[in-house]
Amino acid sequence: MHPPPLPPPPPPPYSLPLPPPERVSKSLLSGRPTCFFVRSEQGRRKRGERRGEEGGSQFAAGFSPPTPSCSVPLSTHGKQEMPWRNKWTTHAQRFLPVISKLMTKRTDDPSARDLIDGTRFPPERPPSSQAVDSSRDSMTLSKRRKTLALLLLALLFSLMFATFLFSFPLQDHFFKHAFHLAASSKVPPCACRRCMTEANNDTWFAKRFNQSIHPLMTRDNSVLSEETFKWWQLLQQEKRPADFDEVVDELFRLIPDHVLYADAGPERCRTCAVVGNSGNLRGSRYGHLIDSSHFVLRMNQAVTDGFEEDVGSRTTHRLMYPESATDLDNATILVFIPFKTLDLQWMISALTTGTINYTYAPVMPRIKANKDKVVIYNPTFFKYVCESWLEGHGGYPSTGFLSLLFAIHICDKVNVFGFGADQRGNWHHYWEKNLQDGAFRYTGIHDGDFEHYVTNILADKHKIQMFRGS
Ligand code: C5P
Repeated sequence: MHPPPLPPPPPPPYSLPLPPPERVSKSLLSGRPTCFFVRSEQGRRKRGERRGEEGGSQFAAGFSPPTPSCSVPLSTHGKQEMPWRNKWTTHAQRFLPVISKLMTKRTDDPSARDLIDGTRFPPERPPSSQAVDSSRDSMTLSKRRKTLALLLLALLFSLMFATFLFSFPLQDHFFKHAFHLAASSKVPPCACRRCMTEANNDTWFAKRFNQSIHPLMTRDNSVLSEETFKWWQLLQQEKRPADFDEVVDELFRLIPDHVLYADAGPERCRTCAVVGNSGNLRGSRYGHLIDSSHFVLRMNQAVTDGFEEDVGSRTTHRLMYPESATDLDNATILVFIPFKTLDLQWMISALTTGTINYTYAPVMPRIKANKDKVVIYNPTFFKYVCESWLEGHGGYPSTGFLSLLFAIHICDKVNVFGFGADQRGNWHHYWEKNLQDGAFRYTGIHDGDFEHYVTNILADKHKIQMFRGS
């Protein structure tokens, strides 16, 4: 028995045969009845077969379409008459003229031909002029693609940069620094209406003011130049001074070694009230104004109890030396002014053992003070005050003048109280009843007149504001 013959396989629902493009374009354009050459598997053109030869196939392997399929009119009934004629043919009808042109133009471009009929052709033939043109076209296309890619990259980068700029914290940072740097001359040196360091066009002030010398001593700047050390040792001479470096080393093992107040900038408006001990404070009612400052600097044995209305009650800093020392509360910063090596030794002793009770005069063996709030007036700064500001007048500056210069270097705005004589010409301290008490004016060590002269110039130039009291 022979098995019954198998029915022919149904055509697959895919890879519908398309006619060769040349023919499709011709027939579709002409609208005449057309014969489509449908190629069988056997008729597939092998690799290297000449282009244009009929019999080449564009069909998937294994597919045997009905043969031949001819003389089918292109009509509106085409859908029923030709099941494979679907909407794509309608689209093809619209775009075929364009496709046809492209194909005609780019037949020598292997990549284009591959796209058109899925066949690769050997490029053995010498390039014709058309091929050269085509090659140029291809290069132009490649260049265009590169340009497009570069443009896209640039756009992407711009977008990323814009995102970076306008994200708030970065924007703040970027604009502040980039544009402030560009116009750095316009950046104010502080946040006050007037700043100590601005208007350096004032030659008198600019000639004297030197920000590079820090008013306080640290381990680093305690290494004095030979000239400075000699100058400093002559202020109050000692017979057998101890080794300065060793004493400084011991001192900084006891007190902090920090650089303070080096925070000047456009965000800062620090105000200082420098309160001298003049009797002109009596009845002045400056107490509230003095206390409203960030820093309230007092000196030596100044008292506040009972005088608050005139002198205020706050003290953030007290400047003193061994012979003028007094007890401090825990929060007050002790700005210690050393005139000799023994003074540094006394500072150590007064905070610890209490063994030193005499210098050139009796001194307090111990003082109440927070050792973590003790800072040392820098001898190099001391010399600078004498030479640059007092131009060598007097033996050395008064505590008041040293305090004033200290304030000018750590604050942006300085108000000065309690300096000079009262309105009747008395130089006494504000807490004393004896109008003749006023050692400052008559010591002979300080040149009070010159200090007064310099202080008045600073006030005239609006570097400080003087409150002259009553
Ligand atoms: O008298 P004593 O030195 O303690 O005063 C502190 C500072 O106050 C002085 O160094 C001086 O600058 C200032 N003062 C003043 N006129 C006074 C008393 C003191 O200018 N009558």
